[in-house]
Amino acid sequence: MFETSFITLFPEAFPGPLGVSILERARKEGIWNWETVDLRPFGLGKHKNVDAPPAGGGAGMVIRPDVASAALDSIDTAGKHLVYLSPRGVPFTQSKAHQYAGGKGLVLFCGRFEGLDQRAIDAHGMEEVSMGDYVLAGGEVAAMAMVEAVVRLLPGVAGNEASLTDESFENGLLEHDQYTLPRQWGERGTPEVLLSGDHKRIEEWRFNSAKALTKERRPDLYAAYSKTHEFQPPETGDEHD
Ligand code: SAH
Repeated sequence: MFETSFITLFPEAFPGPLGVSILERARKEGIWNWETVDLRPFGLGKHKNVDAPPAGGGAGMVIRPDVASAALDSIDTAGKHLVYLSPRGVPFTQSKAHQYAGGKGLVLFCGRFEGLDQRAIDAHGMEEVSMGDYVLAGGEVAAMAMVEAVVRLLPGVAGNEASLTDESFENGLLEHDQYTLPRQWGERGTPEVLLSGDHKRIEEWRFNSAKALTKERRPDLYAAYSKTHEFQPPETGDEHD
C-alpha cells in the first residue's frame, strides 16, 4: 500500500481530482491511500496560530517551525519521501515521479503565506520540490498534481501498462500527434500512414513526429535527448518499395 499524507491548512481541498477515475478505483483496490493532516490543531494559543511575521521584517507571514514539526511528528514518516512543495525546489519531473513511485509513500507539506521556516525544512530533511516556475497561493494543488503523476505509475493503476511507456518524457521526447475517428473530419484527414496497417511505418512516423515536435517546442529536452542518442542510426524514410 502506497501511503500519502498531505499536511495542510485546507484539508477540505482534498481529495479533489484524486478522488475520481483510475486513482479512486486504485484506492478502493488498496493500491494506495491518502490522508490529510490538518495543520491548524497544532497551532499555538487560543487562536491556534500557525504563522508569525518574517524575522528581519518584510511582507507576509511564515509558518512556524515548531508547529510544522509537531504536525510532521504526528505521522509515521518511516521510509517515505518527505516533500516540501516550494517554487524554490528542484523541478518535479517524470523521472522523479518514478523515483517516488518506487518508495513506500509520500508525506507532502503544503505551504501557505510566504512559506515555511527554513529550520523545519532542515530538521526534517525535507526535499524541496517545485511544480514549475510560477508562484501558487499554496502547496495543495502542487501536491495533488505530484501524487496524481506518481500514483498512476504504481503497478495495477493504469489500465494499459503499455500506454505508460510511450508517453511524453518517458523516452526523453514529447509524445507524437494523436488521431482517432472519424478518418475524415471536414477538410481534415488522418495521416495516411496511420491507416496503412503497416506497423513498422507507423512506428517510424510516430518517432519522427515526436522528434520534430520536441525539437520545435522543447529545444532543451531535444538537446538532452540528442546527446544520449548520438549513436542511433539515422532514420529510415518511406523507402519501402
Ligand atoms: N514566498 C515563496 C512563495 C510562497 S507561495 C517564494 O517566493 O518562494 C505559498 C506556498 O505555495 C509555498 O510555501 C509552497 O508550498 C506553495 N507553492 C507556490 N508555488 C509553488 C510551486 N511552483 N511549486 C510548489 N509549491 C508551490
